[in-house]
Amino acid sequence: MTFRPLLLAAALLAAAAPGASAADLLTTGLRAPGAYDGSCLARAGGDGVVRREVVADANGLVQARLTGAAGDWDVAVFDAAGALVAGSAQRGTAELAEGFVRGGQALTVQACRRSGAAGEAQLSVQNVILPAAAPGKLALVRVSVPTAAAKELLLSLDLDMAEHGRPGFLDVLLHGDADRAALTRAGFTYDTLIGDVAASDRAALRAPMSPPDGTMPSGRVQYRRLAEFSEDMKKLVAENPTLVKPITLPLPTLEGRAVEGIEITENVGAADGKPVFLQLGVHHAREWPSAEMAMEWAFELVNTFKAGNERTVGLLRKARVIVVPIVNPDGFNLSRESIVDAGQAQVDPGFSYKRKNCRVTDGAIPAAGECGLDANRDKGTDPNRNYGGFWGGPGASRSANSDTYRGAGPFSEPETQNIRALVSTRQVMTLITNHTYSDLVLRPPGFAAGPVAPDEALLKDLGDKMAAENGYTSQKGYELYDTTGSTEDWSYFTTGGLGYTFEIGKLDNADGGAVAGAGFHPAYPYGVMNPWFGVNAPGGGNREAYYLALESTANEARHSVITGRGRPGATLRLQKTFSAQTNGGEDGPVTIQEGLTSTMSVPASGAFEWHANQSTRPLLVGSQTEAWTLVCTDAAGSVLGRSQLVIARGERKDVGNVCNGVTETATASAVPALTLKLGAVKTSRRAITARVTCSSACRLSARVAKGRRTVGRGSRSAGVRAVTLRVKLARGLARGAKLKLSISATGAGGARATALKTLKLKK
Ligand SMILES: [Zn+2]
Repeated sequence: MTFRPLLLAAALLAAAAPGASAADLLTTGLRAPGAYDGSCLARAGGDGVVRREVVADANGLVQARLTGAAGDWDVAVFDAAGALVAGSAQRGTAELAEGFVRGGQALTVQACRRSGAAGEAQLSVQNVILPAAAPGKLALVRVSVPTAAAKELLLSLDLDMAEHGRPGFLDVLLHGDADRAALTRAGFTYDTLIGDVAASDRAALRAPMSPPDGTMPSGRVQYRRLAEFSEDMKKLVAENPTLVKPITLPLPTLEGRAVEGIEITENVGAADGKPVFLQLGVHHAREWPSAEMAMEWAFELVNTFKAGNERTVGLLRKARVIVVPIVNPDGFNLSRESIVDAGQAQVDPGFSYKRKNCRVTDGAIPAAGECGLDANRDKGTDPNRNYGGFWGGPGASRSANSDTYRGAGPFSEPETQNIRALVSTRQVMTLITNHTYSDLVLRPPGFAAGPVAPDEALLKDLGDKMAAENGYTSQKGYELYDTTGSTEDWSYFTTGGLGYTFEIGKLDNADGGAVAGAGFHPAYPYGVMNPWFGVNAPGGGNREAYYLALESTANEARHSVITGRGRPGATLRLQKTFSAQTNGGEDGPVTIQEGLTSTMSVPASGAFEWHANQSTRPLLVGSQTEAWTLVCTDAAGSVLGRSQLVIARGERKDVGNVCNGVTETATASAVPALTLKLGAVKTSRRAITARVTCSSACRLSARVAKGRRTVGRGSRSAGVRAVTLRVKLARGLARGAKLKLSISATGAGGARATALKTLKLKK
């Protein structure tokens, strides 16, 4: 007998994995001789629509996948009463409709050919069987954290943190007795806000909704499901082709969905060099209002532009808005569909509290339905801890089961790679990433030991003004709690574009009784309408706050403007590459390569005006500069001209004819990449010694801090061999004191790298 270790290992793995068993209900080719000009999310007829009947084997998920054809096809699954069970209406032909079903449930699968010449598609329908989940285990509690140390200890427990806190407390979602025991063991006291979140949700769903005070721009009165976002974006594009343009981000999700967005500006098809305002929703699956805000903002702009509103018309002449309502569609769909099922109680309604993406195992694509297993609810990477900026530092977990799991590496996930690609190929002056809940406007940095933002005054000014509209508290990100690998810490320190997190809503919005969504997605009037209009807010709510963000985007005093001349129709490219270091925690920093490249076309007049971010990253300090390289190419891609340009925020520079050979309009210091590796660190009462290596000759300087107080400094030169850096400590430090060591290295041309480590003084 031959021993086959590989096969054996595979068999063991399969046995160990919580079984995502799936039954094939149908695999078939479909033909639709005509096209159907309407929504596939309702029962439809005609020769553009094809229907098939199936019966679900068991309780679980139904997944209907469509592939293969050209044009645009959509798919939907209905129950016997005609209610939508699952739907997918993405652009193009690849569709995945997923929803919850009962065993024995009769289903109609409907495929619609919306457009395109070819009339054929492949349909496969699967039933992913989910074991029954234990009910009533989810609770929302308010944990007392009287000191910074208590806060840090709480974060280290890897519990499911809500995004709500104020001085003295943080809200936490407990997923059962083990979580409760962890709190008690660590000595925390807490108040239970909602003892059984699932039961509270069910009650709130049955309760009559308060009539809304206003009408949302789209007219919505309840949360969209995933396919409805796709349909609304398609509709805005179809009805407003010169104002709204679709975009699909480069990577599909782990479950194979496209990540969709739209761009909005006057004459949207032009490569016009306008400044960009980027609106993001749903990094976190359960935070539904964040997607609604982004989507409604798109409707708001389109409606008011078409109505001739002077303010909107003026703004959309000057600036471009990009909206990506759902960064994490896999997670969102599970969360959103789970509540549809909540009344039937055949799946754990607690699934609507899924936070992360569908990365069940590092580096692996999940099997069909694997992400929906209750046993995998706590699996996944937190997309808002996976960005490269400071990745792996405080406030992000190394544990794959933690709700703040940072992921296998910086940008390991398609969700963050997509936003990185978008921000790196546009000139994004303002980014708002919407989350729930805490009524906060957060600005960089996201962690207390992080770099000071050189634009703090500007960041604070806009943050405060937006907060004056929505009534939120404007503060630095870390004042809620430490986070690293978050969206705006990466985008701001990498590009200079201002970045904010909105934490929308608060638990006590509801007027008593059951609180659906436990603050993450309360009933629509509380979760969306009140924050949008600013009910109980001093100003005009998030609606007005977003207008301020757009006005700031259009304000050229807050970014750079490059003017010049070139051959009409030629393509201009503004580019820059550099390496950056993550924080990396105890493994030491990881070096990542960043490349920013955006383009515009020289208009027919031959004169261009390009609104860009400053050339020097905010992470660089002092007199260091970085340059943009500006390249002009003709239609065939031949380089007609190239120049280097150093430009600051608020600066306007004319670069002359950029399609006319190589020009040097400014001398940039070419900054070579520098990396810093931190080896063994030893502590004694008198000093800290660290083994440090630079990738090329560098000057090291170290600071040790206790809280905000400096308790030691040291410096020396280093090179490609490890050196020992000694930092003498101040006298009188208590045994066991918690210290932060930060080392920064400066190399040739002012290149910088930093390393951080938290230490405890020996007892
Ligand atoms: Zn969030």
